[in-house]
Amino acid sequence: MLQRTFSIIKPDAFRKRYAGAILAEIEKAGFKIVAIKRLSISKTQAEGFYYVHKDRPFFPSLTTFMSSGPIIPMVLEKDNAIADLRKLMGATNPANAEEGTIRRKFAASIEENAIHGSDAEDTAKFEIGYFFAGYELA
Ligand code: GDP
Repeated sequence: MLQRTFSIIKPDAFRKRYAGAILAEIEKAGFKIVAIKRLSISKTQAEGFYYVHKDRPFFPSLTTFMSSGPIIPMVLEKDNAIADLRKLMGATNPANAEEGTIRRKFAASIEENAIHGSDAEDTAKFEIGYFFAGYELA
């Protein structure tokens, strides 16, 4: 089933000039880029995006990191996009990420882990709507 998911190239990967290489991996894996932009977000905007993690001990650090520099949010489409992107990303902690995954190749730590990807249909919907207006997805 053709499905859309949401992804972000995180500030660590942008800073290291890995954005192009990560986008190449995503396209090579069969995803179509439906929408994409480059922007910086405030700490408050990062807190809104990650509100599900608001009670986790790493929430202050994560939201400082996500607002520390430019990011590239995007909407991606393919069959089974949500699960397939998670597989392509690899485990949250790059030390546990499988060979060939984006996090294994480009992530530095459990927090600065290069890429975000939605984990379910309802979160994908929320996350797409957080960064993109309807007319950008037409
Ligand atoms: P994901 O779905 O693989 O991105 O992982 P989660 O939804 O569990 O966590 C969201 C993001 O919070 C991760 O991608 C990391 O950037 C960060 N994070 C997760 N776990 C930890 C942790 O134990 N410590 C720190 N510092 N950051 C974490």
